[in-house]
Amino acid sequence: MEELTMQQIVAFCKNRGFVFPGSEIYGGFANTWDFGPLGVELKNNIKRAWWKTFVQEDASTYGVDAAILMNPRVWEASGHVQSFGDPKMDCKVCKQRFRADTLVENHSKNTVAAEAMTNEELEKYIDENNIKCPNCGNKDWTSIRKFNPMFTTSRQMIGDEKDVVYLRPETCQGEYINFMNVQRTMRAKVPFAIAQIGKSFRNEITPGNFLFRTVEFEQMELQKFCKEEDGMPTYDDYKKRALDFVKDVIGLDADKLRYHDHDKLAHYAKAACDIQFKFPIGWQELNGIHHRGVWDLSRHQEYSGKSMLYTDPFTNEKILPNIIEYSIGADRLFLATLCNAYKTEELENGETRVVLKLKPQLAPFKVAVLPLQKNLNEKATEVFASLQKEFNCDFDDSGSIGKRYRRHDEIGTPFCVTIDFDTLEDNSVTVRDRDTMEQVRIKIEDLKQYVMDKLN
Ligand code: ATP
Repeated sequence: MEELTMQQIVAFCKNRGFVFPGSEIYGGFANTWDFGPLGVELKNNIKRAWWKTFVQEDASTYGVDAAILMNPRVWEASGHVQSFGDPKMDCKVCKQRFRADTLVENHSKNTVAAEAMTNEELEKYIDENNIKCPNCGNKDWTSIRKFNPMFTTSRQMIGDEKDVVYLRPETCQGEYINFMNVQRTMRAKVPFAIAQIGKSFRNEITPGNFLFRTVEFEQMELQKFCKEEDGMPTYDDYKKRALDFVKDVIGLDADKLRYHDHDKLAHYAKAACDIQFKFPIGWQELNGIHHRGVWDLSRHQEYSGKSMLYTDPFTNEKILPNIIEYSIGADRLFLATLCNAYKTEELENGETRVVLKLKPQLAPFKVAVLPLQKNLNEKATEVFASLQKEFNCDFDDSGSIGKRYRRHDEIGTPFCVTIDFDTLEDNSVTVRDRDTMEQVRIKIEDLKQYVMDKLN
């Protein structure tokens, strides 16, 4: 079978109402995407599944929904404001942007102290050593510029004065700064976690590849606060739980998933690992698990002047908890889920069908109600109304029944319910299974329970 390409997935998403290019009628707006009627259902189902697994089913995890706009001091404590000065240069040929000091470090195998070099020195070194673009191999650089990784906006103060405000580039700071609030109000004992799903904004150096890297995206992540001695076991635990989630709950194929442990760590980190997925563009990060030590709470303690110390209720000892972070992009997981589920199958009669083999719980529609002919619409509408309260359903009465089956195979609807003339006599319907294409006859009164049992 031919390998799926990113272009195929982009076209599929656009044609089937999953994802549209952002601001399309104005010629688009680079690296922004709008989720359509089916996309928003799939994405919501993914987020719900994540929240159920990591928050609802874990008594020691508490949810928050923090503000996107935060006190700018938060971004000083996190180190983001300082990195504004990073020296960046663009390859004029492939338009990719790189940190000049990283280019020098990599070329010199860390034998040159690039961090301490001025922009002029960096440019001279790159020129004299003939350092080429790691992406396309050309050597045609712009001069070095400062690049701001955070989007800024401003808040009007008195008169014409304005305060610079940042759109958060990561959601996790909302959990760190609420550590004490959550601990106190929920009477939480370490170890416990704070979780959040929300939007982040990044002025990415190299955005692209559809939803893989965008400038506005959603993160689903949690921060587990634990004692130092529990740090590594907790890290290992989340490595396993993160993999189990994408495999068992989302349904990604095991052979398209792998761990990627980091060799190079941030100076404060004790361990870091990604789970990679085999996207059409190759193996790429799907999520990250990081052992961050006491870095985040200590920085907020320092910058806010507020104590972040937790008092152990048994020993009365005051500690700054270690943090294990687990973070996954909802949009990136959405993309992986679609790429994994999209299949082209040869049928016995020689025809082919596209079928989206989503886990039924994730499918945008759970049931499609299909009257065989328009004069069966009244009965079909009754059936539709009875199911609609329980499941997201579609009513489809246009085209041949075969075409309607194909249409729903393609968008992943697990069950098609056909109303035919016998339905008027025996109050039964035909239920067709998306994957096996088998059909069974079910009494209308048993239909809801039948679908529910199958979904569970
Ligand atoms: P990458 O190395 O791909 O840039 P990262 O290490 O910067 O990712 P984190 O900051 O750890 O990523 O963010 C956690 C998760 O958020 C990532 O694993 C990814 O799923 C998602 N994510 C990060 N940046 C983007 C983006 N620009 N667009 C879409 N999803 C993203």
